[in-house]
Amino acid sequence: MNGTTHTCPGCGRHDLTQAVPAVYLAGRTAVTSRERDAGGAARTVTRIATTALADALAPLPRRPGRALGGLGMLAAVVGIGAFLGGRLAEGAEGDGAGAGFPQDTGPDLAFLDTVAAVALGVVVFVAVVLLGREAAFALRTRGRGRAEELWSHGWYCHRCGTVTFHGVPGEDRVPLSLQGFRERVWERGGYGPMAVRRPVTGR
Ligand SMILES: [Zn+2]
Repeated sequence: MNGTTHTCPGCGRHDLTQAVPAVYLAGRTAVTSRERDAGGAARTVTRIATTALADALAPLPRRPGRALGGLGMLAAVVGIGAFLGGRLAEGAEGDGAGAGFPQDTGPDLAFLDTVAAVALGVVVFVAVVLLGREAAFALRTRGRGRAEELWSHGWYCHRCGTVTFHGVPGEDRVPLSLQGFRERVWERGGYGPMAVRRPVTGR
């Protein structure tokens, strides 16, 4: 707890109240581990582990997932492999196969080029989808500054599990449920409907 604390109107005590940003940050831990990548080389990977409470107190929705990026990476690897395989096969067909017009391209070579073209299509598709999602998310949450301003005035009571706004003109000092707090904050940021679609409970 840092310096000032506020009394929780729910239980009338202040010993277990904590500023929402502090609770939120305490619930997000960077977990570092050593892993091996596809090539077998060891590397250090850092991920953010979030507690359910920090998750519930988030000032904005989660960023869109990037699981699709794995598909894009796979397609890129397959595409490069197929392309190089095609060039190798072309070279093995004999030197001097005319520029752009190899004389006797077997079915294998054509197949590899088709695979490379399809893989390239998948890479482009994945990139467009991911960039589109990021752009839509940024647009939808462009009022996050206002939301975070209100959010920073929230005080969480660890006894009651409620949040109360302190020092915000126009906001009643009423204990709010985690969901009520989320709706109020996200609404201020202009993305209130997302709080209804992604309720705190059941996550
Ligand atoms: Zn309380």
